[in-house]
Amino acid sequence: MRFFIEGEKGQALCHPCGGLVATTFIRRDVPFSDGKGSAQNILVGVCNQCEQVVVIPAQSTPAIRDARQKDVKPIEASLPAIYLDVLDLAAYTVDNRASTEFRRYLLSYFVHKTAQQEAQLEQVVERYEMAIRLFPEKRGVARRRLSMKVPQAVSDDLRLLCESSHLNTSNVIKSVVFDIQSQIIESPKQPLLKELRSFAAVLG
Ligand SMILES: [Zn+2]
Repeated sequence: MRFFIEGEKGQALCHPCGGLVATTFIRRDVPFSDGKGSAQNILVGVCNQCEQVVVIPAQSTPAIRDARQKDVKPIEASLPAIYLDVLDLAAYTVDNRASTEFRRYLLSYFVHKTAQQEAQLEQVVERYEMAIRLFPEKRGVARRRLSMKVPQAVSDDLRLLCESSHLNTSNVIKSVVFDIQSQIIESPKQPLLKELRSFAAVLG
């Protein structure tokens, strides 16, 4: 890893110019890859000939991610209130000082973990069906809105789970909450709890 400073000169490949070019590191607004919005005042290497951004140093990546994060649309779901109670009880089981903020981390962790494993993908529908059996949705059941900003990667994971299961966001979240319920509340997995506890400690 190298550290770069403003005004520093270098060399890099520039696609528009078709080869190795001289570069200068300057602060610049960098558009996100999907073209929606930009990260402001980021140190980047630009091509001296065409002024395109050709190098994004590692040190600038967290700032870009931060800006991206602020831009991310929250996950929205409407759930029977019992699911939020389960999430809060799971958060409390992990760390009795956890705030409702920890819901977001728990859900993100489980969504990500599920999306990473192909075998788990198949269980999304199965767990959704078990969730519905455990928490039957009678008419007039109290519902609550869940709205939380999650990292782009988690939002992508959730989309993958929706696509592979053909369930909507709310139903995928029910499935994930059921998984959280069985692994943290019903039959707690100690290594998992330990991992989540150190996670909670770091997050404060
Ligand atoms: Zn160029």
